[in-house]
Amino acid sequence: MFEHIQAAPADPILGLNDAFRNETNPNKINLGVGVFKDENGATPILKAVKQAEERLVANEKTKSYLSIEGTEAYRAAVQTLLLGADHEIIAKQRAHTAQTPGGTGALRVAAEFIKKHMPDATVWVSNPTWANHQSIFQSVGLEVGSYAYYDAASKSLDFEAMLASLSQVPAGDVVLFHGCCHNPTGIDPTTSQWQQLAKLCSKQGFLPLFDFAYQGFGVGLDEDAQGLRTFLQQVPEMLIANSFSKNFGLYNERVGAITAVCETAEQAEAVFSQVKRCIRTNYSNPPAHGAAVVTEVLTDPQLRSLWEMELQAMRTRIHEMRGLFVATLRAKGVEQDFSFISQQQGMFSFSGLTPEHVAQLKQEYGIYIVGSGRINVAGMTKDNMEPLCDAIAAVLK
Ligand code: PMP
Repeated sequence: MFEHIQAAPADPILGLNDAFRNETNPNKINLGVGVFKDENGATPILKAVKQAEERLVANEKTKSYLSIEGTEAYRAAVQTLLLGADHEIIAKQRAHTAQTPGGTGALRVAAEFIKKHMPDATVWVSNPTWANHQSIFQSVGLEVGSYAYYDAASKSLDFEAMLASLSQVPAGDVVLFHGCCHNPTGIDPTTSQWQQLAKLCSKQGFLPLFDFAYQGFGVGLDEDAQGLRTFLQQVPEMLIANSFSKNFGLYNERVGAITAVCETAEQAEAVFSQVKRCIRTNYSNPPAHGAAVVTEVLTDPQLRSLWEMELQAMRTRIHEMRGLFVATLRAKGVEQDFSFISQQQGMFSFSGLTPEHVAQLKQEYGIYIVGSGRINVAGMTKDNMEPLCDAIAAVLK
């Protein structure tokens, strides 16, 4: 039965991690997979998370199933974080949220929901986008198209081209936006650009799907939600797939959520009942631990302020590394202008390094970067900055 099955190609990003593990160069540097690293190159458990876990373990009374959508407290805490406290959408019960296994789980549930209820919709993703987006939607049989986003020559958002592509998207299609910290480019629309995009969405009648995997990694928790909140002033419906992998460092606990915003509370009930059906036939109900941690931290004032401080420290470290990277390259005599890197948001930057540069960095220096030239800035430390920039300067010569 299995004779005809060929091996699948390695995942472009996770495969790089496996290769890095086997790399024998003692000075190897991993700027590939998107996990936060501290100044020692470790991905630590946040103190707020540890404290919440201690409480949870002490008080846990059962391992019985959660409901399909997860706990009430988690779902409410997620909505408040996404929309802001006292948002009228919450008051009017126009949104329903279900806990999912990570942001990927949320996107997969969204994909199945779209396929079932909007089967002819094409899902439009930015060019470029996170490598998994296209596969997730294609795996349920949806068509995926791409809209203009990045201008390689100016290393910035090509907003005119983005508007031009999106004005071709027909009513009933779905457009995926990165809520903040665009992966892989690190370039987000400005507030006024979000307003124009929302206006276009309302005019064209497409459904916005926000992938929100980095809330708090850009400017701040509320600031990073400006894109989706701006949209919600102009459009009545939206899907939001959010993740707590990065901002809580809960990568392997798989915590995220899918939120459907609808025009009325009645519609929200109906839509949510269908979202729950997608979950039931997929993984039935979500894992409990990570979501319980997030709920504890978000709702306990002391843990919440500790978490916000730790989140700010992660954000600040990445900003500092961006500045140091640009300055060190300049000090090494690199002629190309890398100053755009200090203007980008979140963990990633599109470095402009070519596939040839990327291959050479890997082979000769043990420096691992995704083939597209995307670098995880959080992989940089004060200690590896000099050898990293020496190597980049050498391959650019
Ligand atoms: N969306 C984007 C844009 C991401 O970068 C990631 C994580 N790399 C995800 C979704 C998925 O996050 P999770 O690990 O929570 O599934």
